[in-house]
Amino acid sequence: MYTCENCGAGLHYDIKSGKLLCDSCLSTYMVGSIKDASAVEETDEINAKVFHCPQCGGEIVTIDEAAATFCSYCGASAVLESRMTGIKKPKYIIPFKKTKDDCRELYLKHVKSNIFAPKELKAPSYLDRFRGIYIPYWVYDVHIDKDAVFTGDETHRRGDYIIEDSFKMTCHVKGDFSGISYDASSSFDDELCQEIAPYPTNEYRDFDTGYISGFYADVADVDYQLYMRDAADFAVDNTMTEVRSKFTEVDSVDTPDSGFGPVLAPSCGEPKNALFPVWFLSYRNHGRVAYGVVNGLTGKMSTDTPISVAKYLLFSLLLAIPLFFLLNVGLVLTPSAGLVATCVITGIGLITFLVNRSNIKKQETKELDKGYVSVYGKPGKTTHNGFFTGLIFPSIGLLIAIAILVFTPVSDIYYYAANLILIVATGFMLIQLIRQFNILATRPLPQFNKNRGEVDA
Ligand SMILES: [Zn+2]
Ligand SMILES: [Zn+2]
Repeated sequence: MYTCENCGAGLHYDIKSGKLLCDSCLSTYMVGSIKDASAVEETDEINAKVFHCPQCGGEIVTIDEAAATFCSYCGASAVLESRMTGIKKPKYIIPFKKTKDDCRELYLKHVKSNIFAPKELKAPSYLDRFRGIYIPYWVYDVHIDKDAVFTGDETHRRGDYIIEDSFKMTCHVKGDFSGISYDASSSFDDELCQEIAPYPTNEYRDFDTGYISGFYADVADVDYQLYMRDAADFAVDNTMTEVRSKFTEVDSVDTPDSGFGPVLAPSCGEPKNALFPVWFLSYRNHGRVAYGVVNGLTGKMSTDTPISVAKYLLFSLLLAIPLFFLLNVGLVLTPSAGLVATCVITGIGLITFLVNRSNIKKQETKELDKGYVSVYGKPGKTTHNGFFTGLIFPSIGLLIAIAILVFTPVSDIYYYAANLILIVATGFMLIQLIRQFNILATRPLPQFNKNRGEVDA
């Protein structure tokens, strides 16, 4: 913790001035010009207070004398348990540039544009829960310097002939990639992290504890080797794009082996640990959580906006009334054409249901979140509701309708009966689709249950 040399009160990093500011006498200090009284000299560790959420197991640290009364990861309102610990100093940091007020404004603008958003999302007390958290990242530098042979193909037409040329090209490929970053915290969702990227390297500062004064930080708990291959692949892919652009007259150039393959032989040194600024907001409702995160440097935002079921039902009702009259007035469709129309709607609904189902599975099992899986392993299978009303019932209805359309019975009554069954089934399916939408717009509560082991990753 930093204290004011003038009055002894606590200092915190002030985003607007980029300096350490005293709340009490308004003195300012350049970061790095003042020593942290409690700091251990000449070590690569910082004394910090770790807050542990009793509900989800998420952890954040601070160097201040603060208490944390809610958890940013699961939205629980509980006084988090704390203990002192030493955490390893990162190499770089990007200080916050966007203030809490900037975030509030950005977020409000987004929420107001969504008419189905629950009104709680606009409450000042809720927006006050925006919390500045430094998220740890692994930063990789990849270096490519290699003579490589590429095979190329070229096709051209001369008169009636199509001439295909295949040849080998040898060239020296050189590429330096710095600042390829991946989030090093299992608590911070990889998807959110990608959505608010990038954090440009020219904003990096050498780490100083002063920058995190007044903010929270998450702790790196993902092994640095995890993303090495991805960083190398990224460098190889970009190099190949560059190589291909050099041979514009050639139709195609084969990609050599990616990653640590022998052709381009990318070399990747040990990554550096960096802290990047994120404003974090969580909304907890019915056992699910929705996040709003803002890049603390650029203001790029990613939000899950749940919809209020009451608002949605009201809107649907308002929409259904004119539709109902429209259909009744203009009942010009022949029975078979009417049945075909319902079949198309049901078909689209079924496809949507299946796509949503697969997306929900991806979200719940976190199978795309490499950092999470590396620390906690693959979560078990999740159960999905709505299988009968969302899939089986409308499928049966659809089969009956298709059978009627194929066998073309003489009496219209068959068409009307089949259409009625299909409409009822589709109505049930729509309820499931709204439920799916709400699940996809929010997230399951995080469960960082497994022991994190040592905090100094
Ligand atoms: Zn002061
Ligand atoms: Zn929590």
